[in-house]
Formats: sequence, structure tokens, C-alpha cells
Amino acid sequence: MGIAAPPVAGARVLVVEDEADIRRFVRLALVSEGHDVTEASSVQRGLIDAGTRPPDLVVLDLGLPDGDGVDFIREFRTWSSVPILVLSARAGEAAKVQALDAGADDYLVKPFGSAELLARARAHLRRRQQITGTAGALVCFGDVTLDRAHRRVTRAGQLVHLTPIEYRLLALLTARPERVLTHRHLLQELWGPSHADDAHYLRVHMGNLRKKIEHDPSRPRWLVTEIGVGYRFVSEAG
Ligand code: CA
Repeated sequence: MGIAAPPVAGARVLVVEDEADIRRFVRLALVSEGHDVTEASSVQRGLIDAGTRPPDLVVLDLGLPDGDGVDFIREFRTWSSVPILVLSARAGEAAKVQALDAGADDYLVKPFGSAELLARARAHLRRRQQITGTAGALVCFGDVTLDRAHRRVTRAGQLVHLTPIEYRLLALLTARPERVLTHRHLLQELWGPSHADDAHYLRVHMGNLRKKIEHDPSRPRWLVTEIGVGYRFVSEAG
């Protein structure tokens, strides 16, 4: 994250979408970036293609003729950790959260532009490169350094005093750059299953954490709110 990753091109992207127009739009955008695109129009076809030619990234529609995109995610996640970018309808708020909890990494709400699609694709492909490359104990962004080995956070060289919850919240989000972590996921990780619905706990701790690491806590650069869904750590590369 501290070091700019090389541009990501020539990745293998699987697009699972039943609407031919959207599939074509997504394919043209990805091909223009130099990616190798495979198209599928159903859950079953998508799983077969993913098994035959393992992708580097999956772009997945949630409403498919033979099932829900979430079915694809559950099956795919039993054998692959490749990033999944979900395409969701504006009305499908619950489906989007369900998809993220099932193991999707990110989402785009239809209609979306090709620039937005490509930026997200780049961020996830870079993250994947970093994970398969060096998974370091140090995470650096802006003037902040998180040292996992010593559970220490510094800002411009000065030690930042975080509460245990603030530290774990920061560690969880920075471990998955660009990925949207849902309220439910974070609450379960921090306090256990019985607090899975207490999203206001998170807001309080996130507010305090931002005051300690963001330049402008009211307009966060690193720890970004996904309204009604959760939070995302936007890395320097993303
Ligand atoms: Ca559809």
C-alpha cells in the first residue's frame, strides 16, 4: 500500500450477467483495459467457467435466471478467494448486504459508468497482487503506520493511542483494502454474534477512530462509510 503497485492489465475476468446489454457494456470496458473476459449468463454456467478457467476477478449480477448471485458466491467461496464485484439493482439493498456477508468484496449499483467499473476492478486486482505478493505486517497510508506485529499505530512518527476496539476495527478494515465490510460482519468480529444488529456501537467507535487518524474526520479519506451497508478502507493504491 505504501508502494504504488504496477498497473494491472491482462487479468482474467469472469462476467456473470444475464442481461446481454449490460454484459456487453462490461465486457467492452474490461477489454479496453486489456483484460481477458469470459461471459456467463447463469449461476451454473458461471460456476462451470470459473472452475474451468480460474479468473482473477468475478463481476457478478445478483438476479440470474437459475438462481441468486448469492448462490454463486457461497459455492465459489468454498474453493476460491478471488475478488467478487457485485452488480446490484438500486432496490436490492438487502440482497447487496447478503451478498457482502456471503463473501462478495464490493458492489456497484446499476446504472454505473465504465470509469467507475474499471477503477473498482483495478483496485481489487491490485489488492489481489499485494496479497499473493508480500503480505506485510506494516500497513502504511498517508502519515499513518499500523504495525501488526507490535499492535502499534503511529501518525507522522508519533504514537497514536487507540482503544482495543478502535485498534481491532482499524486492523480488520486495513486487512481487506477496498473491500466493503458490512456492519454485521464488523459487529460479529468485534463483539460477537449477540451484537450483530447494534450498528450504532460501530458509528461511535468509528467516529473516535477517525478523529485519531483522519485529517478531516468529517470527510474521511481512508475509512469510508458505505451508507446503510458498512465501511471500506480505501488504500493509497485504490
Ligand atoms: Ca439480472
